[in-house]
Amino acid sequence: MRTKKVLFIRQAIELSQKSLSNQGLGPFGAIIVRDNQIIGQGWNQVVACNDPTAHAEIIAIRDACLYLATFNLQGCTLYSSCEPCPMCLGAAYWARLDSIVYGATRQDAAEAGFDDEFFYQDICSPPAARTIHMQQDLRDEAKEVLRHWAQASDRTRY
Ligand SMILES: [Zn+2]
Repeated sequence: MRTKKVLFIRQAIELSQKSLSNQGLGPFGAIIVRDNQIIGQGWNQVVACNDPTAHAEIIAIRDACLYLATFNLQGCTLYSSCEPCPMCLGAAYWARLDSIVYGATRQDAAEAGFDDEFFYQDICSPPAARTIHMQQDLRDEAKEVLRHWAQASDRTRY
C-alpha cells in the first residue's frame, strides 16, 4: 500500500516539476485518487490566469468533481507536492476528502518565498488581530437568510 502512495505523491511532484518549465505556472502539483485511480489533477495557475485561488489542489478538486459529477469527494485522497495552504485545506474539508498526502512542508514553502506558514499563523489570531481587517455588522439581517435555509425542506446539504 505504501508503494502506491509513493507513486501517487511522486506523480503530484512531477506535475509541480512540469509547472516549473512553463511561464506563469507556480511550482505546485496535485492529484485526487479514488480506489487507486487518478480522477483529478491540477497545477498552480495563479499568475497565468490572474486567479489567486488557482492553486494546484483547488484545480485538482474541481477536476475530480467535474469527472465524478458531484461536489462530494468522500472516499478520495488528495496528493499534493506541498502541504496545502489554509485555502486548499479548507477546500479539502468542504470536498469531504478522506485524507491528504503531501511532499514538502509549509515551512519548505516559506523558505521558497511563499506565505502559507504566515497565513496559518495569522488565521489562528483573533479576528481583530489579523493582518486582514475584519468587521462584523448587520448580524440579524444576515442570520435571517440562514434561518430560512435551515427551515427549507428542499435544500441540498453540502
Ligand atoms: Zn493552496
